[in-house]
Amino acid sequence: MTTLRARVCVAGGGPAGVMLSYLLARSNIDVVVLEKHADFFRDFRGDTVHPSTLDVMAELGLLDELLAIPHTEIHEVTAMIGATPVTIGDLTHLPTRCKYIALMPQWDLLNFLASKGKRYPAFRVMMQTEVTGLLEENGTVVGVQATSPDGPIEIRAELVIGADGRRSTVRESAGLKVRDFGAPIDVLWFRIDKDLGDASAALGHFIGGRLMVMLDRGDYWQCAYVIPKGGYDAVRARGLPSFRAELALFVPPPAERLEQIRSWDGVRLLTVTIDRLDCWSKPGLLCIGDAAHAMSPMGGVGINLAIQDAVATANILVPVLRTRRAREDDLQRVQRRRTFPVRFIQGLQLFAQDRIFRNVALTAPTADTQTPVPLPLRLLKMFPILRRIPAYVVGVGPRPEHVRTPEVPA
Ligand SMILES: Cc1cc2nc3c(=O)[nH]c(=O)nc-3n(C[C@H](O)[C@H](O)[C@H](O)COP(=O)(O)OP(=O)(O)OC[C@H]3O[C@@H](n4cnc5c(N)ncnc54)[C@H](O)[C@@H]3O)c2cc1C
Repeated sequence: MTTLRARVCVAGGGPAGVMLSYLLARSNIDVVVLEKHADFFRDFRGDTVHPSTLDVMAELGLLDELLAIPHTEIHEVTAMIGATPVTIGDLTHLPTRCKYIALMPQWDLLNFLASKGKRYPAFRVMMQTEVTGLLEENGTVVGVQATSPDGPIEIRAELVIGADGRRSTVRESAGLKVRDFGAPIDVLWFRIDKDLGDASAALGHFIGGRLMVMLDRGDYWQCAYVIPKGGYDAVRARGLPSFRAELALFVPPPAERLEQIRSWDGVRLLTVTIDRLDCWSKPGLLCIGDAAHAMSPMGGVGINLAIQDAVATANILVPVLRTRRAREDDLQRVQRRRTFPVRFIQGLQLFAQDRIFRNVALTAPTADTQTPVPLPLRLLKMFPILRRIPAYVVGVGPRPEHVRTPEVPA
């Protein structure tokens, strides 16, 4: 068995894990991040880089280079409620450097951060390395067990970070208690080609309690179609032609392009979860990002929260790690710092999901389905100044984090 050592071992190369590893290495704290996949090219992670994340990138001196990567800027969040367009959020007044959401495939963001991290000798990434369990001695986590292309390995570290997402192996191995809040929706994920005549689509389109989100990925639309939880079997049972006809209500014409969905193989079911750990840490271990609090796609804020967790973790732990090991009370400070924003956003997601989707029938909407504009959205239409509130909640969120850790030469 091969044994490696690092001061900090991060399980999971998603936004939380890669950003935290970058920040630790930038402060010359030896870190290794383990990612089970061979690359960052999985397409179902979301594409939103929020104004507060862009502020973090500016604080790191990385903003201009990041924005050189092709992206789309969303200055206003609009939705179609039935046939009525509604502007839900106006980001142009945000107190941030970039007054927009940058839509950029998450793999571009992760590849960018990982490539920038490599300039720090303290930064190591091990791809195709899957954490399978924890090493514990006398009730303290002292490392992880993992499998790699070269066989099983152990990584011994004075601190393990669980950033391995909503199905976290780390949190399960640690026996941390998860509180599941339930989610009444699932998401069908597929792509359709863009048509030359396509305007940039409204981000979301609601009809009869169904929601379609279309993300602009250059030459194709990445589509997320929200259905009631457990509704996929009913969708499939009605058959592909019926599914295409249902989608044609949401997708701008020509409807023929929906023929590109030739089989159910091109339609992936993503289950949605909202949960939270009661306690994010134990001696030698801290969970952050979705591993500590799985986020629903509602509002597209999970990436931002994961990055904010990473910044807060570095702000709290870097000064500690420069002089000594992190104790449990240090780790608990991270949870105390981040609990309010997480509870607030998850509370909003639960409220919104409950209001919009709770009583939605499993039957598909039709062209006759009426979709009245709910009162809060009518108010946003009448009083545009109110659109700044949802823009702030989504674009910045409560308790935004700023980089306070120094760049330390090796
Ligand atoms: C359908 C859907 C759409 C979404 N869309 C958006 C959106 O548009 N915008 C947004 O902000 N949020 C979105 N979210 C939420 C967002 O994806 C998450 O909140 C965010 O990715 C959390 O980041 P993370 O780093 O904590 O975890 P993840 O992004 O899940 O990253 C975890 C990483 O750990 C790796 N990993 C897992 N297990 C192991 C292991 N045992 N060993 C090693 N590596 C491991 C995984 O491969 C992954 O790379 C969406 C969520 C869903 C379900």
